[in-house]
Amino acid sequence: MAINKDTAIVQAEEQRAQAEALFNSIGEGAIATDEFGRITRINPIALSILGYKESELLGEWFPKKIVALNEQDVAINLIDRPITKAFLSGRSVTEKVFYRKRDGQKLPVMLTVSPILLADRPIGAIEVFRDITLEEEIDRMKSEFISLASHQLRTPLSAIKTYSHMLVDGYMGDVTTAQKKSLRTIIGATNRMNELISTLLNITRIESGTIVINARMLRIDRAAEEVIKELNLAASEKNITLSLTQSGKLATSVKTDNLILKEIISNLISNAIKYTTEGGAVDVIVRGRNKDVLVTVADNGWGIPKDAHDQVFSKFFRAQNTVKRETTGTGLGLYLVKGLLERLNGNIWFESEEGKGTTFFFTLPKEQRLRNN
Ligand code: ADP
Repeated sequence: MAINKDTAIVQAEEQRAQAEALFNSIGEGAIATDEFGRITRINPIALSILGYKESELLGEWFPKKIVALNEQDVAINLIDRPITKAFLSGRSVTEKVFYRKRDGQKLPVMLTVSPILLADRPIGAIEVFRDITLEEEIDRMKSEFISLASHQLRTPLSAIKTYSHMLVDGYMGDVTTAQKKSLRTIIGATNRMNELISTLLNITRIESGTIVINARMLRIDRAAEEVIKELNLAASEKNITLSLTQSGKLATSVKTDNLILKEIISNLISNAIKYTTEGGAVDVIVRGRNKDVLVTVADNGWGIPKDAHDQVFSKFFRAQNTVKRETTGTGLGLYLVKGLLERLNGNIWFESEEGKGTTFFFTLPKEQRLRNN
């Protein structure tokens, strides 16, 4: 019996040492807590990233000892801390936050925190995180480069466009019908390039958090009307009927940014026109509701295949059924629209069936505080 007991102790000790070694050799920072969020283990990488000694952290309440900050440098409330969300939801949470190091320095980290569940009850949590300073710096340089390149591209592009217009309008002598056709193609291409440059610039602004918001009270149905006027030509070229309805009795006014709002509506309607066969219909409905305004852009076009639904808002994504038929497109439009709506505190979603059509919905809240910058 005594031998068995000793063997069991030795085995348990071995297992404990193995678990310890396993934990310590995780290639990223790792912190384990008990069910109350008190630190029970911390690996050497986490200690070196955060600049603490193990003895300073063991037994401490994780959310209090390691302060997490958001992009605005504000300490994240306990309820919004990833570890709390993981405990409450019972699921893993992945987020980017800033940790305050021991020396007070702010450090960007990407973390995943998972609850440790025993019979569905959290008995602790484990967080794995890494320092993403370098990635952030590369990202910033990439955004800066795109922004610089886009600005520089605009100048020669406007020269091409101005001279093409002068040529086509006959200011530089007569041009044949064939020449006019070519010049119009050049003008069309410069317009598309200009749009692409605006999209790229807007994306870098969204990604770097430098997008400028000029919020004022405005009617969404009016904004939609203006966008529709601009897109009527594109619709009529494909014989597509483009309609606008203001439904319901409630006001459609919200405090928001006119240019950004129009960019969002324009992207959705352009897509609806682009991905609908000649003779189809695109219906825009603006509905004021109690707490928000709902905008619907419905088409009876090609639709989005089910297996592509998850990726529609991803950067550069284009569904297979559209890539085959329509070569122009970057897969950036909806990524931008989603980013812009997030910045305006709005939501976006869609319903779609291949071969039947697609309906995009977005809402903007009536009551909101938007940061003007
Ligand atoms: P782009 O239109 O430049 O390809 P977007 O980001 O605007 O990029 O759209 C991404 C993809 O989503 C499109 O390539 C297309 O496959 C699909 N999509 C978007 N809107 C519609 C629509 N109204 N009908 C069908 N497919 C659509």
